[in-house]
Amino acid sequence: MIITCKKGAPQAEIDKIVHDFEQRGLEVNLITGKDYNVFGIVGDTTNIDDKQMMSNPWIENVQRVSAPYKKVNRLFHPQDTVVDVAGIKVGGKEKIVVIGGPCSVEGLEQICDLAHDVKEAGGCMLRGGAYKPRTSPYAFQGLGSKGIEYLVEARRQTGLPIVSEIMSIDKIDEFVENVDLIQVGARNMQNFDLLKALGKINKPILLKRGLCNTIEEWLMSAEYIMASGNENVILCERGIRTFEKYTRNTLDLSVVQIVKRKSHLPIIIDPSHATGDWELVESMALAAIAAGADGLIVEVHRNPECAWSDGQQCLKPEKFKTMIEKGRAIANVIGRGM
Ligand code: PEP
Ligand code: MN
Repeated sequence: MIITCKKGAPQAEIDKIVHDFEQRGLEVNLITGKDYNVFGIVGDTTNIDDKQMMSNPWIENVQRVSAPYKKVNRLFHPQDTVVDVAGIKVGGKEKIVVIGGPCSVEGLEQICDLAHDVKEAGGCMLRGGAYKPRTSPYAFQGLGSKGIEYLVEARRQTGLPIVSEIMSIDKIDEFVENVDLIQVGARNMQNFDLLKALGKINKPILLKRGLCNTIEEWLMSAEYIMASGNENVILCERGIRTFEKYTRNTLDLSVVQIVKRKSHLPIIIDPSHATGDWELVESMALAAIAAGADGLIVEVHRNPECAWSDGQQCLKPEKFKTMIEKGRAIANVIGRGM
């Protein structure tokens, strides 16, 4: 961390700042210039609040050199993390995983039929929302516990591990008991109490990027889960809000390699929510594979026109299958199975 003091800062103030850092066990290197004094702070500065430092009227600028996250940081964990989801490995050099299923669980028959379709197409996990974060309180809110129950039956019939979104702390026991990969949706990416509570369990967490969040904020949310003790985190890019209106969100594919540079955690792509348009899903899924993603999560529905949510971005099972076939060809080219 580099701190610049304002011109004319009194010596007593400078001594005080140096003393404060030394008290915290940090090494302070002072560079005294003609106009400015600059400190280089060496040591673990993760728990120093750089914005708070600026409340000192004699401090002109605070610049971080190291990332504010530690557990998530590749610097301290050079090898890729591989997360085990009920026997399916995600990350590292493992096969690219494909998760498929409807936006919402709509009934027992619907989810079981679709689970068979997903499996037959080559998908390795089943997704389905039971607790839905909807923009309108009048829109379908999900089947709740019944939806989880139906997912469990679909898993029993197909053997596919199940992925579902949690929205509140009071449902954690239900999810730990039933769900294999617990999704934290974009809207809850900064629900810090929820993240801390999920840090205390040992089920894998799928952490989606928030609607308007930077990569660093997203990694800090992963840090919340890991700092509380749960190191099984998979990141998921699902598009971010921009000025563009032709797509539901803007898919930030460069994030795959940036995340891999900054972190050891696996990252998967959701081309469904990223585009909001079924006609764009396949091409973005293939691009994600080429970009180095560790997996895909795709919305699939037998009858998208009648879907209870997000029909416009659902692939029919046949399309999902061809997407996987094409994806395998790309995965082979880049030396990664799928
Ligand atoms: C979902 O996966 O159905 C969902 C609501 O996703 P997101 O949180 O990315 O909007
Ligand atoms: Mn959806």
